[in-house]
Amino acid sequence: MKLSMSDLERYNRQMLMPNWGEEGQLKLKSAKIVVAGAGGLGCPVSLYLAAAGIGRLTVIDREKYELSNLNRQVLGWPKDLGKSKAESSVEKLRAFNPNIDLNALVVNLTENNVHDLIHGSNVVIDALDNWKTRFILNEACVKEKIPLIHAGIYGLSGQITTIYPGKGPCLRCIIPETPPEVKRFPVLGATPGFFAMLQVMEAMKLIIGIGESLIGRLLLFNGEDMNFNSIEINRNPNCTVCKDA
Ligand SMILES: [Zn+2]
Repeated sequence: MKLSMSDLERYNRQMLMPNWGEEGQLKLKSAKIVVAGAGGLGCPVSLYLAAAGIGRLTVIDREKYELSNLNRQVLGWPKDLGKSKAESSVEKLRAFNPNIDLNALVVNLTENNVHDLIHGSNVVIDALDNWKTRFILNEACVKEKIPLIHAGIYGLSGQITTIYPGKGPCLRCIIPETPPEVKRFPVLGATPGFFAMLQVMEAMKLIIGIGESLIGRLLLFNGEDMNFNSIEINRNPNCTVCKDA
């Protein structure tokens, strides 16, 4: 695989970054990323992954756009109401960057299909809105040894960490009991938008192999008072999911 003339021009500004260059861009072009969820996190995540020239992007979401989604799920437009989130968002991404391989999967992520859906990918993005599916994804990523970039948001706040099987804690190490599911929680679109950008940065850095990642660290942000907190998180040696990873 090599970079085209159009790649060299389109991605020029990011290739100017230290330790990126053509080699780094080629790594992105060869990379496969799965974005689990096409909602508040998933829309901006997939838009910016597409902008950065990720070779193959798979967007998974079973749901359809509703009007109340549009304050944050920015690839869902009024014409998409009632239509598949995965397919409508991929349609926009295809127009935005026709030179990458895009794949929309209109399925529910379950224990039965999760391995098939993520197998062979370089990074998986947790852009989900419920804990049950998050833990299914966490366990599958640990087994497949695929880095998972987790983010979760509520109102003006959120958290992000990078789960790197074998190198740091998994989601189950840091959240032993599955929290209760909250269906219609408050959220301003800017909150998932902001965390989505952090997820994209983490994904880029992992694939290119630059910078310090959030492995073993949970980054918390509270938009009410504009404070960041970074706390160390450790593996649980008895974790039911990753103790053998
Ligand atoms: Zn664990």
